[in-house]
Amino acid sequence: MSTNRTEYPWHSGLYERLASQRAKGQLPHALLFTGPPGIGKEAFLYSWVSGLICKTPLVDERFGQQACGECDSCRQHLAGSYPDCLVLSPEPDNRRVFENYPPQSSQARERARKTPRTIISVDQVRELIDWLGQSSHNGELRVVLLLPADALNKEAANALLKALEEPPADTLFVLLSERPLNLLATLRSRCQRIDFPVPDSDGALEWLGAEYPVADRQRALLFAAGAPRHAQDLLVANEMQRWLEPIEQLTALITGSTSLLQVAGDWERHDRVWLTGLLQGWLRILVGRHAGLTETDEAVVGKHLRVQSDGLHLDGVFELFGLLNGYVATQNIALNKRLLWEDFLLVWQRQCLTKKKAQK
Ligand SMILES: [Zn+2]
Repeated sequence: MSTNRTEYPWHSGLYERLASQRAKGQLPHALLFTGPPGIGKEAFLYSWVSGLICKTPLVDERFGQQACGECDSCRQHLAGSYPDCLVLSPEPDNRRVFENYPPQSSQARERARKTPRTIISVDQVRELIDWLGQSSHNGELRVVLLLPADALNKEAANALLKALEEPPADTLFVLLSERPLNLLATLRSRCQRIDFPVPDSDGALEWLGAEYPVADRQRALLFAAGAPRHAQDLLVANEMQRWLEPIEQLTALITGSTSLLQVAGDWERHDRVWLTGLLQGWLRILVGRHAGLTETDEAVVGKHLRVQSDGLHLDGVFELFGLLNGYVATQNIALNKRLLWEDFLLVWQRQCLTKKKAQK
């Protein structure tokens, strides 16, 4: 894997800001990086941390200090054996970056598991504290990564808090979280929070590349809540029609061109987690566009937004969000998918039809 990830132009300001803080000796000992999915957070962290680890970094005009990829430190880092970097994560195999770093000893000792781990355990944090007690191998900066920090369970978070209260010298804690409110408030307050920049829509459209028609790129960005990396995944996998279909079906239910049972039967075949996420995103778009459509909305999904938001009833939408949150919470439990979607569609139909009746 290359250590240089310079393909996200919207990161350049952040590289600059951190480089300047570091040059002035103002880099705090703990940073909490947050931001929505699909904007290249992990790739940034990998590239930035690689630049910190490298002994002979190259200075790039837009992206600050970049790893050379050839010095001893870079070689060790590429092999996942750089001794002054420790990565804590629930499931090392599921890391999108730093996947070359091995699991912690406490994880390696566990017996084979059927389901992937979802938490960072207190044993992992204790191991970190032992590691911090040893002196740095290279006499250089030590980096601790928590990917993601919201995976810490309560006991682990409390143990980490102690380490952050008395930070060892020359150690940088890097916490990543898409849900920072799920972290202990005391832990959050020990970190400097850095919100990842999200590119504006023109920048994102340009980055997605001219090989896709503008309308496709706009639609992908809409579904991806403006996150270019996620939008790119949709375009590359040619997923647009698959995403649009459930939304078309919601419209068809309102206009009466399909039936609830037909749609529920169709949705039963979809992956539940995928469809739940899609519907959550779509409801957010619907609520967000209630005040009026932008030009882009008009072009890509105008018809659906108009038909569906015409019947939109906020109480009903909250009920729908509640159902979807329940589906997320029970995603590891096998439930009758058909019944589950029938419930959802019943509320959907009721909230739309109630409004229509009231208007008559
Ligand atoms: Zn290097």
